Amino acid sequence: MAKTYQQIMDEARRIVTEVSPDDVKTRLDRPEKPVLLDVREREEYRQGYVPGALSLPRGFLEMRVEDAVPDKNTPIVAYCAGGTRSLLAGRILKELGYTNVASMRGGFTAWKNQGLTIREDRQFTPDQQIRYSRHFLLPEVGEEGQAKLLDAKVLCIGAGGLGSPAAFYLAAAGVGTIGIVDMDVVDLSNLQRQILHTNDRIGMPKTESARLTLQALNPDVKVLEFRERLSSENAFRIFEQFDVVVNGCDNFPTRYLANDACVMLGKPLVDGAIWQFEGQATVFNPPAGPCYRCLFPEPPPPGSTPSCAEAGVLGVLPGIVGCVQALEAIKLILGKGRTLLGRMMHFDTLAADVRILKLRRDPHCVVCGDNPTVRQLIDYEVFCGLAEHAPAAPERPPTVSAA
Ligand SMILES: [Zn+2]
Repeated sequence: MAKTYQQIMDEARRIVTEVSPDDVKTRLDRPEKPVLLDVREREEYRQGYVPGALSLPRGFLEMRVEDAVPDKNTPIVAYCAGGTRSLLAGRILKELGYTNVASMRGGFTAWKNQGLTIREDRQFTPDQQIRYSRHFLLPEVGEEGQAKLLDAKVLCIGAGGLGSPAAFYLAAAGVGTIGIVDMDVVDLSNLQRQILHTNDRIGMPKTESARLTLQALNPDVKVLEFRERLSSENAFRIFEQFDVVVNGCDNFPTRYLANDACVMLGKPLVDGAIWQFEGQATVFNPPAGPCYRCLFPEPPPPGSTPSCAEAGVLGVLPGIVGCVQALEAIKLILGKGRTLLGRMMHFDTLAADVRILKLRRDPHCVVCGDNPTVRQLIDYEVFCGLAEHAPAAPERPPTVSAA
């Protein structure tokens, strides 16, 4: 015989314990706290929730709860807005074999009315909810991660071959503030790979062209233009404003400068380099891993390493390396996954070969070592121009990135 709603509710009350918000609070304060399951719709959750609650809307409960809570003896407290949906959810959990299930009486409304702490996530606009919907579906990003991305500040050194794809994807991902330091103007020869720029912008400052492209893609992004050459005089002033630095520079003085400034400020540096058909990417963030100087203590003799302007570069290669740099920056911001810290990803695109090389911090490094001797920024032009020794034979020669 078919059951009435009242009968179903009575049945649920018989098999699911109801607990008061105060009881839930007490249980959450213990070390062996229960899993708190918010079974309301996402929209309701967004308006505010009990800190530590896991959002699992009632409509997805059967499908997702076994992934979210694999051990069926885990104590669970479910709540909804008023205590009805969570009671029904509790009944389903019991049917799925969960042994220790309770429902919070009066739900979130009662919790809030008693003056207990609630948390509210960033409120996304309707457009943002659609724009970032694919991120929201990923547990590793979700709304919390998207809020981190929107609050993040990433500096791209150069809006060239590497900076273009890196900044493009960072903007698409919703990184809220992107700084671009570059003093060049767009040249026709750039357009084979520097995808931020267009034919009608030849002669325009690259920072301006980058801002136009990035903001056309995503109006959430604030672009800060630094139309200046990065130097020992301005590096700290610029770097200090950012959480992560993405290196797309094309010369050794800037490479050493960016490294030293990041080490001294304690900022992660996502490094990339390309040469003809080969590229590499890594993350420098000592002391957890090496810095650039640990690998290349001294610059190569001037003129010994041809630049991309001299040796050429396959147009798609900086796209690959720049995208890896964007990916690493995003992982650093989210605090998820394993970054390339202490490892270098090396691409040989002609051979279609990708290798991961292990990198170690040098405790004798002059910048990030145990007893650093370089404690302030130096004149890097002089440092690179006057170097008398070749670098201590690295596994691969240092490569130069394209402008
Ligand atoms: Zn070092």
